[in-house]
Amino acid sequence: MIIVLKPNITRKEEKAVLAEIKKLGYKPHIMRGVERTVIGAIGDERTHQNLETLMTWPQVEKVMPVQKRYKLVSREGHQGNSIIEVRGNVIGGKRFQVMAGPCSVESETQLLTTAEAVKKSGATILRGGAFKPRTSPYEFQGLGAKGLKLLAKARRETGLAIITELLSEDHAEMVAEYTDIIQIGARNAQNFQLLIAAAKTGKPVLLKRGLSMKIEEWLLAGEYVLAHGNPNLLFCERGIRTFETYTRNTLDLSTIPIIKQESHFPIVVDPSQGSGRADLVIAMCKGAVAMGADALLVEVHPNPAEAWSDGAQQVTLEGFARLMEELKPVVAAAGPEY
Ligand code: PEP
Ligand code: MN
Repeated sequence: MIIVLKPNITRKEEKAVLAEIKKLGYKPHIMRGVERTVIGAIGDERTHQNLETLMTWPQVEKVMPVQKRYKLVSREGHQGNSIIEVRGNVIGGKRFQVMAGPCSVESETQLLTTAEAVKKSGATILRGGAFKPRTSPYEFQGLGAKGLKLLAKARRETGLAIITELLSEDHAEMVAEYTDIIQIGARNAQNFQLLIAAAKTGKPVLLKRGLSMKIEEWLLAGEYVLAHGNPNLLFCERGIRTFETYTRNTLDLSTIPIIKQESHFPIVVDPSQGSGRADLVIAMCKGAVAMGADALLVEVHPNPAEAWSDGAQQVTLEGFARLMEELKPVVAAAGPEY
C-alpha cells in the first residue's frame, strides 16, 4: 500500500502513522518530498488488517493499493494466453469459435433443428437454457432436467459441444454431468457461492458480465473460479444497463481489449442479450470480431416470433447462416482462422 500524508504535518504526527503501520504488521518505507511525505507499506494484506483504515487518520490524505486485487486471472506473472479446450474445440487460440442456439430449450424438434442448422453454418458449440433466470416468476422458467437431456441428445446427434446456464448450487452436479461449459448468467455474476460451486465441477466456466458490473468486479468474480481450483475460465461481455432505451443493454465492446490487457483468459461476446434486437446482431458480431473477441455467443431460433423467451433478439436459422457468411472476411481480416 502507498500512504500519502497531508502537507505540512509535523514529524510527531508522521511518527504516529509510522508506528501504526508497524503495529499492524507492515514494514514502512518513508519517502520525503518537498511538500509531501509518502510511505510505502510492505506486507501481506491477506493475513493482516487492511491499511485502508488509515484513511480515518486526520494526517492521511490517501491510501492506494500497489498491486491489483485479482492475481490469478491477471496477465501479470502469466505468460501468453490461456486457451480453453472444449471437446476438441479451442477457445482463445488461433481459431475463432461461435456458440449458437436458442435462448431456451423448448422442445426436441426446436433444439435439434437449430443444432443441425447452426452446425451446418459453422458453429461448434450449441447454447440453450434449461434453467432460465426470468425477471418475472410467471414467465417460462425452462424445462430443467428435461432440457439438459435434450441438450445431451443434440450433442450425441451433431457432435456439437454444449453450453448451458447454472442457476443454483443445488443443480451444479446435475448440470455438470450434461454440459461441456457452465454458463454463469449476468444476474448471478457476483453470486460467489454459485461461482465456487461451478468452479468445483471442474468444467470450463463462462462468466457473463453482471448488469451493472464494473470490469474490476468482473475480473474479481473470475478470480473466485481460479481461486477455487478451476483454471478454465471464459469472460463473456453481454452488455450493461445504461440510460439508453433503443437497445435492451449497451454492449460494451471496449471490454474486449481491456480484458485482453488485464487477463490471459478468452473474451466471448453475446450480441443477443447485448442489444436485445435481432436486426443489430450481425453488426455487433462484426464489431466484436474486429476488436479481437475470441468467440461469440449468439441466440438462434427456428421461429423467433414463437420463442418462449427473448424472441426479439433471436436470429432465424437463415439469418444465422447469413451472419456466418458475412463474418468470414471480418474474421480473416482480424487475424484468427475461421
Ligand atoms: C441468456 O444467455 O439467455 C441469458 C439469460 O443471459 P444473461 O445472463 O446475459 O442475461
Ligand atoms: Mn436469452
